[in-house]
Amino acid sequence: MNSRAVESEPAVKKGSNGHAAAPAEVEKESFAEMALKLGGKSAEEARRMGAMDKADDQVEALFAPQYQTINSPAHRAVWDQETPINEFVSASAQTPPHVQKVMDDSLAVVRKHFEAGTILNETKKGIAKNVLDELGSVGYWGLLVGREYGGSGAPFSSFAPFLTKMAMLDGTIAGMASVHGCIGAVDPVRSFGNPEQKKKYLPLLASGQRLSAFALTEPNAGSDLTALRTTAVRDGDDYLINGEKLFITNVMCGRTIGLVCLVDKKPAVFIVDLPDQESEHFRLKPYGLYALRYASNQGFVFKDFRVPASSLLKPVKGDGLTIAYHGLNLGRVALCANAAGTMRLMLANMLPWARYRKTYGQAIVSRELVERRLGRLAGLIVACDALVEWCSGLIDKGYRSEMECVIAKIFGSESQKEAAIELLMKTHGGRSFLHGHVFGDNVHEYLAPCIYEGEGEMLGMAFFKSLVKHHGTKYFEPIGKTLAAAGIKKPNMANPAHAWALKGPLMSYGKWYVGQKLSRPSWSALPPMPETLRKHAEFAAHWLGRSRMEVSGTMSSHQLGLADRQCRMSELSQRIQDAITILCTSLYAARSQDEIVRAAADCVCQDLTRKLTREPASDRYYRTVTKLGRAIANGEFKSIAGLPEQEILMPYKND
Ligand SMILES: Cc1cc2nc3c(=O)[nH]c(=O)nc-3n(C[C@H](O)[C@H](O)[C@H](O)COP(=O)(O)OP(=O)(O)OC[C@H]3O[C@@H](n4cnc5c(N)ncnc54)[C@H](O)[C@@H]3O)c2cc1C
Repeated sequence: MNSRAVESEPAVKKGSNGHAAAPAEVEKESFAEMALKLGGKSAEEARRMGAMDKADDQVEALFAPQYQTINSPAHRAVWDQETPINEFVSASAQTPPHVQKVMDDSLAVVRKHFEAGTILNETKKGIAKNVLDELGSVGYWGLLVGREYGGSGAPFSSFAPFLTKMAMLDGTIAGMASVHGCIGAVDPVRSFGNPEQKKKYLPLLASGQRLSAFALTEPNAGSDLTALRTTAVRDGDDYLINGEKLFITNVMCGRTIGLVCLVDKKPAVFIVDLPDQESEHFRLKPYGLYALRYASNQGFVFKDFRVPASSLLKPVKGDGLTIAYHGLNLGRVALCANAAGTMRLMLANMLPWARYRKTYGQAIVSRELVERRLGRLAGLIVACDALVEWCSGLIDKGYRSEMECVIAKIFGSESQKEAAIELLMKTHGGRSFLHGHVFGDNVHEYLAPCIYEGEGEMLGMAFFKSLVKHHGTKYFEPIGKTLAAAGIKKPNMANPAHAWALKGPLMSYGKWYVGQKLSRPSWSALPPMPETLRKHAEFAAHWLGRSRMEVSGTMSSHQLGLADRQCRMSELSQRIQDAITILCTSLYAARSQDEIVRAAADCVCQDLTRKLTREPASDRYYRTVTKLGRAIANGEFKSIAGLPEQEILMPYKND
């Protein structure tokens, strides 16, 4: 049973009242705060970074130990003596029949309106209200709400690949479900609401009578969430809210938002039913935005806006950032799923033009460069599918999966960006920029996922911090504390006083280090796999097993200055993410009987491997990827069959 999509969440430790249980001790100064202070940062900067780190600890403490970050597959692949291969394989989702019906009906609604040309409203700036209502009537908005509240309680591993299918029909409608169900009001109420709050909000959220959004970003607070300024001040049975939000997707009068603001200077989340009309207390702040053209994305301002105190979510431990962090992971996988659908549309759009366009007497579809692009794009799609299946499966098993979902978010958004610019645009040439062309009309949609739900490189650093936190706390924090207590700024091991002071913590680290030097990377048994894919899996497992020495070496080289070595963190983070993507993709494709899926996985794994080994592409690679491109041109990539194709713009008579 899906642990996230139903009300009783086994993944989250439960107290007797059914709320998330109080986590173990999390009040002590966080590792980040301590390291920054010891590293000479100002008390203010250390406090702000420490607040983020504490929010992270508090989310962590909501999960049973076996599902926390240090026991998640990405962490274990680097730090465990043996890479746990079976944790990189999630079985395909078992979709219950009632959920399948909701999904089929939802796709049918959108297909019907797509064919009739009635998806958009009369202004052509948004999805038509009757389409949203029809989707509500077949259960689309309640997929992630439990059945007892009128939803269908879909497993997340069914929901995520379904979004890929929806994105192949309409990316905006897929994106709206992701915002509503993953980061909007559904996840906060489901995971942190008390029984009255669930009863009040979930049925309306499930039916779509109230679509929802999540309002975190402010003009001065995007990457830096410690800079939030919106406040809520208690006034009798209510709170008065003042402040401004920016870039909020799905926000409109009459919708419901999860609002992050400060109560007594601490982040808190209210579930706010926005009024049907603007007033002196609530004003929308529209602006021209290139991305999300058909979804509503606006700012808004609250001035002494009154909300009942009963709309404040109260996590038993933690605060509003704990709630915000919780929902983001689902959104990140959903984003990757959406990218997998969008890139399929791009691939389907490249083919008719590539067949039509002749240069020097030959259709460009049969040129190596174009074949390579088709093969590369199929590889990116299959890797996204693999990450979606893996991450959503982990979420259903009950893992927090923070690191894994970050990989999916970065890979999905970067793949979509590359696919748009390097593959789609280049293949369509000048026509890409004509009005009515899929690239020109959607370029901002293709790029924006690199920024929302956390900009990729910032997330990459967060991934790295999660990766090193446990190792740092265990081996490096005692060294830092000892140095601080002894008043030593720069340790010099030739100085007997320094060596004596550090003997305890260094001995402990030395034992770990020597143990690693004497061991070789190993991994648990691989399932039966085709030879090419098995080689990729072995390469990745071996690379990951070796990487802990590099990670630990980076920590010991930069010591307390590591927080400022952003370029190194970002670079090493990306390589580890790439190795994990190879492992996950090769295992995923090995379970497919489809030769094209396997060949695409082989190509993308070769691409990622070259990034790690820094070797040039081999002739074997070019043969494989161009052969794959030819097969796709011949219609052999089944999952793009029947997708709408870009009409040929500026047609001409071919010789
Ligand atoms: C289309 C779209 C939809 C969105 N939807 C929502 C939504 O529904 N709800 C919501 O709350 N928000 C939403 N957002 C906001 C989005 O999450 C933020 O834009 C994003 O988190 C980045 O914040 P920012 O734009 O303020 O960037 P900034 O904070 O200004 O940062 C800009 C860049 O500076 C660099 N940078 C910043 N800090 C550091 C640092 N410490 N070290 C190194 N580099 C740094 C990074 O490259 C960063 O990306 C949306 C944004 C867009 C574009």
